[in-house]
Amino acid sequence: MKLKYIIAGNWKLNKGPAEAKAFSGELSKRLAKTSLKNTDIIIAPPFVSLPALMANGFSIGAQDVYWEDKGAFTGEVSAAMLKELGVEYCIVGHSERRQFFNETDRTVNLKVSALLKKNIRPIICIGERLEDRKAGVMYNVARFQLAAALFDVEIKDPVDIAVAYEPVWAIGTGNVATPQQAEDMHEVIRQSLEKHFGIDTGSRIRILYGGSVNEENIEGLIDKDQINGALIGGVSLDLDKFLSIINHIEKRER
Ligand code: PEP
Repeated sequence: MKLKYIIAGNWKLNKGPAEAKAFSGELSKRLAKTSLKNTDIIIAPPFVSLPALMANGFSIGAQDVYWEDKGAFTGEVSAAMLKELGVEYCIVGHSERRQFFNETDRTVNLKVSALLKKNIRPIICIGERLEDRKAGVMYNVARFQLAAALFDVEIKDPVDIAVAYEPVWAIGTGNVATPQQAEDMHEVIRQSLEKHFGIDTGSRIRILYGGSVNEENIEGLIDKDQINGALIGGVSLDLDKFLSIINHIEKRER
């Protein structure tokens, strides 16, 4: 089934408000010249740059959220606060958060539920480490992470969530997964989604690939049936390259 693609830029700790404003103004201007048919575009900047994004032609995403609405949680930002800013998507469980900020499968689940309650769409990141792949347990790792993230989670519409398969060994390394490696994993994820949500919903949830995607390797990845878009880190900071990825996808026959 052909689903509308998602191309999401994860800016990580890059671009403060001034740079974000300039980038988003230019992105909107250049997108206005195209009529996007195949692609939902998302930009996820640091929290402080969210208000600077003028989203014409694209959606705004956050990179993280806290699961409580308010209270004594110094440094945190709630789903209600993100909603107030017009945030539509939120990345959850990114491997950098798991690695450096003690994100666990349990906190990912709490965040997914909190976001859905406020009608923000989680982009749930899962993916194995290199040693998992070498040991041949990558599918089990992904199945487990996804099952934990979705514990007790229900959705009304398949577009309410997206899953990003991001092998840890591919993030920021230049070592992109081969299209077949990604497709094989996406099939496993698809089966898990169909099992959890039923075939009708599970078959229409978008599964993104992330990890060293660029304007050259996107074509091969997106050729695969189960790859419904990409979560892009480094290359999303470069407007020309980011747009080139979008153009590759838009010119495809549906
Ligand atoms: C990411 O951070 O989600 C990511 C995929 O990064 P990169 O594209 O730089 O590998």
